[in-house]
Amino acid sequence: MASWDRNTIILLDLVKQPENARCADCGAPVIFTSKLDPDWASYKLGVFVCLNCSGTHRDLTDVSRVKSIRLDNWEDDLVEFMRRNGNAVAKAQYEKSVPAFYYRPQQHDCVVLRDQWIRAKYARQEFTGKNGHLQKAYSSAGFCDGTLWKKGKNKRQFQKRRFVLSQDDFTLRYFIKEDSKVAKAIISVRNMNAVFQPEKVGHQNGLQITYMTEDRTRNLFVYHENGQEIVNWFNAVRAVRYAYLRKALAPANDSELMPLLTTRSLKEGYMEKTGPMQWEPFKRRWFVLCSVDRKLLYFKTPMDALELGAVFIGTEAHGFSVRETPTRGSRGSRWRYGLTMETPDRNFIFMCEQELEQRDWIKAFQQVIAQPLLPQHYSIEANMKRKKS
Ligand SMILES: [Zn+2]
Repeated sequence: MASWDRNTIILLDLVKQPENARCADCGAPVIFTSKLDPDWASYKLGVFVCLNCSGTHRDLTDVSRVKSIRLDNWEDDLVEFMRRNGNAVAKAQYEKSVPAFYYRPQQHDCVVLRDQWIRAKYARQEFTGKNGHLQKAYSSAGFCDGTLWKKGKNKRQFQKRRFVLSQDDFTLRYFIKEDSKVAKAIISVRNMNAVFQPEKVGHQNGLQITYMTEDRTRNLFVYHENGQEIVNWFNAVRAVRYAYLRKALAPANDSELMPLLTTRSLKEGYMEKTGPMQWEPFKRRWFVLCSVDRKLLYFKTPMDALELGAVFIGTEAHGFSVRETPTRGSRGSRWRYGLTMETPDRNFIFMCEQELEQRDWIKAFQQVIAQPLLPQHYSIEANMKRKKS
């Protein structure tokens, strides 16, 4: 057997080991089911990575070099290097001191998050524990002062604004001008969320910051041209939220706090809805379903600053359920695929354009309804009721 063939077999054996079978950087499966898809390994770092992450490795020629396991030729010494290293060894070295609040991207996260994670790990070596100045920087990560492009409240344009995030009083402030003395807004991090929304914002570094103002959800849409900067802001929000929640929810442990630092919505998209009287015309609205706080929010468009309304979603035991709606029950809607959400107060009829969307929404609502109610949900529900009355 030629040594090339033998080496490919050794590598294919290595990549079947549990720690190597998933991408060292995002956890996606390394080996694809299709025989034609190449699978990748960095022979300079000794890690097995997925197709997407291999793209960033290819940009970092100083620290990483990738080859396809099955399509490229591997010399004996490189195979031996892969055997001695692998994803578990690399993780112990390059992820030795990742701060608790720091977001570790997953397979389906946006490009900028995955890209910057790989650069932070290998090119900047931020987490090896060897760069003292970086450790210090992370201990003060809850302070950030800089300029971001922010979408105007009722405008399409983005304008440069100065933002200051502070762990001292758990606030995010923004200023119209660089030298403004008075903040345009002082936002508590108590109910703050940050989530990357490149498609919505129309920029690969687009970030949505959400918070509560007078019991309504307010959205800010921002971006920074530089990927490292915007990921720093994102992790700074997580650092401040972590510090805040550690106090507010003491003695909660890290595994309870981590899912609360920043959260992704379970589902977003357009549906049609009527008002409380069901003969009212159907209107198209942008819906956002958050499973962590059990809220369905709706907006006129995806980039609105303020919600139009919100519905709390309880459990089945509290009278909440969701089901498909027959088409005949939906007079006046342009879209055909309906669902009815029953709540103790009223029934909501939502219409989707596509059958697939209808199924996804039903599944998402069922998932939230099936989750047990936690103590914090009672106060969310009480606040929403108070607002309505
Ligand atoms: Zn990956």
